[in-house]
Amino acid sequence: MLVLVVNAGSSSLKSQLIETEGKDARMKCLAEKVGTDQARMSVAFAPDFQKVVYNVADLSVAQCLRKLLDIMTDDPESPISGLGQIEAIGNRIVAGGEYFTKAALIDEEARANLDKCEELAPLHNPAADACIDMLRKLMPNTPQVAVFDTAFHTTMPPKAYMYPLPMRYYEDYHIRRYGAHGTSHRYAAQQAANWLGRPLRDLGLITCHLGNGGSITAVNHGKSIDTTMGFTPLEGLMMGTRSGNIDPAILTYIMRREGKTFDEMDEILNKESGILGISGTSSDMRDVLDAAARGDEHANLAIDMYVYRVQKAIGGYYAAMTRTDAVVMTAGIGENSADLRERIFAGLAHMGMILDKERNDVTGQIGMNRIISIDDSPIKICVVTTDEEMRIARETDNLVSQLRE
Ligand code: ADP
Repeated sequence: MLVLVVNAGSSSLKSQLIETEGKDARMKCLAEKVGTDQARMSVAFAPDFQKVVYNVADLSVAQCLRKLLDIMTDDPESPISGLGQIEAIGNRIVAGGEYFTKAALIDEEARANLDKCEELAPLHNPAADACIDMLRKLMPNTPQVAVFDTAFHTTMPPKAYMYPLPMRYYEDYHIRRYGAHGTSHRYAAQQAANWLGRPLRDLGLITCHLGNGGSITAVNHGKSIDTTMGFTPLEGLMMGTRSGNIDPAILTYIMRREGKTFDEMDEILNKESGILGISGTSSDMRDVLDAAARGDEHANLAIDMYVYRVQKAIGGYYAAMTRTDAVVMTAGIGENSADLRERIFAGLAHMGMILDKERNDVTGQIGMNRIISIDDSPIKICVVTTDEEMRIARETDNLVSQLRE
């Protein structure tokens, strides 16, 4: 099935045209700094993916997508000549609240519910909704699917998703833990089960999505029972630029001392903290590892803190589950950094997670899943490589195929 994947952010648009049968990307597009006068959009077609860069200054995210569709129908290099060749559209939606427990076909009811979710991700969801509306007008007969970052975590029990706040905040504003990276955790768990040769429902897995953003999930018998991200993606691990867990009293303390506004505080916690805040070098783990190798103390501290927080989350979920069969590593850092994996598991061997140094050092490619623990490690350690657009395309294909049956 030829699926157009749309991943709309607050100021970015990622899109791919994917043939799900051969798992082939036919077009890749990335627009950044959208909404500013520096906005640029690169579009590349298979097989050689030579990028052509377009000026998209002052366009909205949905207008960038409209422009991409024009390019796709006009450019002789494009794999399609008309929009009718696109069989389905898969939209990534950051927040699905309590309304969406799985990927959903976007009909009138789902569209109305998407509106209700906007307040949960005020930067991301409105851009995605605007893309959906534009596409519904332009291609009314093409099925559109919404794939949610939160859906996989709707199986969390109340003891995991509730915050110990006055009950009315949950009742009035739906303040609770929703988690994120759901498609990634689900995919990582399923792939690990395939590798282990056992059904997902028989396994206890701890899935670690360690990228720019990061979260860890306890997947008990195939279901997410807890995850480190919360009401927003700010909770949990230390990330590229997000603080993760801190004492919430620090917020009001800094605001009082420095007269910071709410927006400024939001910016500090989401954009200036984490690896960037401590290292002072970069939010990118590769840069920080390089700086640490040169003896930079702050970079070393950032890595130590990052590793320690990942270890504590893995240990916490070991306690939360009834059994732990494997820990699964995925996303930029989880997939690619043998160094970070070595540091993380050096502290977890006593829990029965024993890394094999040689296997760990093998560099993988997309689609190259592997086990990196020693043969008799009581708990296996796996690496699952993936790409978000491909996962969304697969979920879209699954849902649309079911509807056709
Ligand atoms: P996003 O959350 O933006 O999708 P990714 O999953 O691509 O992020 O992860 C980006 C992170 O992965 C960056 O911090 C990057 O430095 C890190 N990363 C990628 N490759 C390596 C590597 N070989 N070693 C260490 N870190 C890596």
